[in-house]
Amino acid sequence: MSLPPPASPDELADRARRGLHDRLGVTASVVGWAPGRVNLIGEHTDYNGGLVLPVALPHATAAAAARRRDGTVRLSSAQADDTWSGTVDDLSPGRVTGWPAYAGGVLWALRESGVEVPGLDLHVDGTVPLGAGLSSSASIECAVAFAVRGLLGGEPDDEVRRAVVDACIRAETEVAKAPTGGMDQTVSVFAEAGSALLIDFTTHEHSAVPLALGDRRIVVTDTRVSHELTDGGYGSRREDCERAASELGVATLREATLDDLTRLTDERVARRARHIVTETSRVPAAVAALTDADWGTLGDLFAASHASMRDDFEISTPELDLAVTTALEHGADAARMTGGGFGGSIVAIVASDRLDEVVAAINGAFADAGLGAPDHLLADPTAGARVLR
Ligand code: ADP
Ligand code: MG
Repeated sequence: MSLPPPASPDELADRARRGLHDRLGVTASVVGWAPGRVNLIGEHTDYNGGLVLPVALPHATAAAAARRRDGTVRLSSAQADDTWSGTVDDLSPGRVTGWPAYAGGVLWALRESGVEVPGLDLHVDGTVPLGAGLSSSASIECAVAFAVRGLLGGEPDDEVRRAVVDACIRAETEVAKAPTGGMDQTVSVFAEAGSALLIDFTTHEHSAVPLALGDRRIVVTDTRVSHELTDGGYGSRREDCERAASELGVATLREATLDDLTRLTDERVARRARHIVTETSRVPAAVAALTDADWGTLGDLFAASHASMRDDFEISTPELDLAVTTALEHGADAARMTGGGFGGSIVAIVASDRLDEVVAAINGAFADAGLGAPDHLLADPTAGARVLR
């Protein structure tokens, strides 16, 4: 059994160029490329002023673009049948739905931030599975933003990159109307190869954490089950966290300690807050373990994180629990659910010589439980967004 790597940036860029030509009949002058991500640890901590530790995936989206003189915008995707056509004005909040809200919303948000977005034809093609909790959304947003920056010329510097992150967050929140804490866009833009990105949502600083993986790999298993539509889960978790912070008189739960939480009157709200406080404290510990190749400690931290999400935050699912348990039983050093919850993926650290066994065991356990086959991918830590010409 082997897990093939996704198309390289150059291969994916070529696919997007060909798609632009075949679908919209124009020749690309530039391609924006941006990766999806998997979060190693620090879940739901971003909107609580906490810490997160994602890595960018080799799985990514490429956006091939060519300028138009007439101010029209046309958008197409290899992952969608419909082509969207209009102007940047038509991409403002409330005027566009579906996938063009993600791609097109970025054009609106960039213009709001003062960027002179030209008329353009744009085609995207991606290798990030959609809706698997691996942030195909940030990947498409950042790829589009980098395509626009590419059309305007020059290589995006740090300041431009920061502005791209902000525009992509606005696009997802205000146009696509999917609330996002900002982790996904930050890592898609700022990730470094071979490293995770430690992001602090109180100081808004980030730093690369080189990973001492040796012969270990980061394996992601997409359960291909999503319960999100039947549950307003993200919003209600966020409300509970805000209620806890306001009852404790702190700006965010980052400032709260476990002792403080005894003052919370509602049992559920207290458990939600306990997840946030303990999860934030696990992130620096995981940074140390990953830097020192201390897999025993990392395994304990992942286990505690998973239990906290399952029991205190209540965002795990039977499929995620089964994948984690099975991975650990078959030799994974560490495994936990990852992403917003209610479905999606798990992340595991696995020695190369145990990979086949872990993958086969999860497939077998899913089959035995009458579940559909999960997908697996190798999350070799990749560098962030770029412009390809
Ligand atoms: P995730 O970010 O975990 O993959 P989201 O629900 O946040 O899931 O975002 C998925 C949505 O992003 C898709 O339903 C689609 O609207 C949009 N999207 C992402 N990638 C593409 C793509 N390559 N082509 C068209 N739409 C895309
Ligand atoms: Mg997303």
